[in-house]
Amino acid sequence: MYCPVCGNKTRLRLREDTVLTHFPLFCPKCKKESLIDAKEYVVKAIK
Ligand SMILES: [Zn+2]
Repeated sequence: MYCPVCGNKTRLRLREDTVLTHFPLFCPKCKKESLIDAKEYVVKAIK
């Protein structure tokens, strides 16, 4: 999975059937957590 802020690759991997809601994705490059939704490989950042 890629960071929605900077596009850096994160350590989290998505499966085809992975569904995440309001998941705090940590990016080692930004050193920030972004809240995301993910479904069918589509990742959306939540503001
Ligand atoms: Zn990032």
